[in-house]
Amino acid sequence: LLILGIETSCDETSASVVHGGTECLSNVISSQMDVHKKFGGVVPEVASRRHVERITLIIQKALEEAQVEMEDIDAIAVTQGPGLVGALLIGVAAAKALAYATGKPLVPVHHIAGHIYANHLVEPLTFPLVSLVVSGGHTELIYMERHNQFRRLGKTRDDAAGEAFDKVARLMKLPYPGGPHIDRLAMQGEPSYELPRAWLEPESFDFSFSGLKSAVMNLVHNANQRKEEIRYVDLAASFQTAVLDVLVEKSIRAVKETGVGQLVLAGGVSANSGLRIRLLERCKEEGIRLAIPPLELCTDNAAMIAAAGTYQFLDGQFADLSLNADANLALIK
Ligand code: ATP
Ligand code: MG
Ligand code: FE
Repeated sequence: LLILGIETSCDETSASVVHGGTECLSNVISSQMDVHKKFGGVVPEVASRRHVERITLIIQKALEEAQVEMEDIDAIAVTQGPGLVGALLIGVAAAKALAYATGKPLVPVHHIAGHIYANHLVEPLTFPLVSLVVSGGHTELIYMERHNQFRRLGKTRDDAAGEAFDKVARLMKLPYPGGPHIDRLAMQGEPSYELPRAWLEPESFDFSFSGLKSAVMNLVHNANQRKEEIRYVDLAASFQTAVLDVLVEKSIRAVKETGVGQLVLAGGVSANSGLRIRLLERCKEEGIRLAIPPLELCTDNAAMIAAAGTYQFLDGQFADLSLNADANLALIK
């Protein structure tokens, strides 16, 4: 079974060919990071235009690298949402045009399902499982009993973890995207600043990061007013530790309470070295099987979309040519 995946939800133009849901034959990613960096964030119109310029070439390259022809492909899987609507539209339009021209089935994929399935390309997911999804737009604990079935245990009530990383990085005058920079600084510092952790209600699997972000903002502001020097490496370490404490402990509790066998890390913040180390340690202590995506599959890519799309294909979840991008697409209907 060969699935062509297409992903254009944000600032990566990507196409991939995946065999049997697990074997990545190609995963071509064209990042626009350089373009958006000077604006300090992704500019939607610029992203859309870049996708238009690149998409055809990227799809061709993905087929070439996989050494397959379009006629060998069984279905075209595309990110329908969530994301930037103008960016999503380019991928959806390309997928529909290909489906129309070749008569191949079209499979609409939820971006977050894709992030979870990135792990499936390394080692098959084992159900039931709990996934900690931590990305630029999402922070959720998802329960999966089988392929294509998602139940939400909790989600962020305000900022996503990645968003908090990026906003705090901006306060610290670090370049966009800030997550990797905080990670790098945190490794050199000590968590010596006192910052809050939002545990919320004892039984809750929800998250909240805006209070933490405000605390960092106040700390920076007060230090500037008093003309005190800020130890940036220690501030980065303190912030990162505060985020990770909550992410790690809620994930472990979710696994224990649901009695599942596997914890699956997903989304761009999965690249965080502190998060990877601490989850490995805690899961080892608790005897929990942990899946962590390799760094190249943490951020947005089309292979994860093709992998998730494979199981939707097998379940007969197809779209017709009226398929539309949905910026706010829900994972759970
Ligand atoms: P979503 O997947 O929710 O639609 P997105 O696609 O924009 O959002 P991703 O591409 O999955 O998000 O991830 C990008 C996020 O990951 C950014 O917020 C970035 O700062 C963060 N990130 C990347 N590497 C690291 C790291 N090493 N430490 C912390 N955060 C990181
Ligand atoms: Mg991105
Ligand atoms: Fe993403």
